[in-house]
Amino acid sequence: MPTYDDDEDEDERPRKRRRGHESRVPCPNCGSRSVRNGPWPWYLGTVGALLCKAVICNDCGHEFDEKKPQADLATRKRNLAIGINLVGGIGILTVIGLLVLWIMYTMNPR
Ligand SMILES: [Zn+2]
Repeated sequence: MPTYDDDEDEDERPRKRRRGHESRVPCPNCGSRSVRNGPWPWYLGTVGALLCKAVICNDCGHEFDEKKPQADLATRKRNLAIGINLVGGIGILTVIGLLVLWIMYTMNPR
């Protein structure tokens, strides 16, 4: 009967990972660096995600922007939403305007 003194599964190392990640900036409320991703409003989309990163502190639950921790997240979200909608609106109007011009140009009887 073979005996194994060190019968340990070295491959199965238990890696306990807390949900979230280490933040580069500490929480402005309690100074903890343990944060998880916060809810992201759909209307800000990918453009908003580039400018602002909403995270929630794991320790005190404070929601803040990882890129600008001192700024008020609600105000920042609103400003970003207005800015993005404005740019998006101008972009859509430009496209529609060009489309109308193109249709008028092609429909123009000679
Ligand atoms: Zn905190």
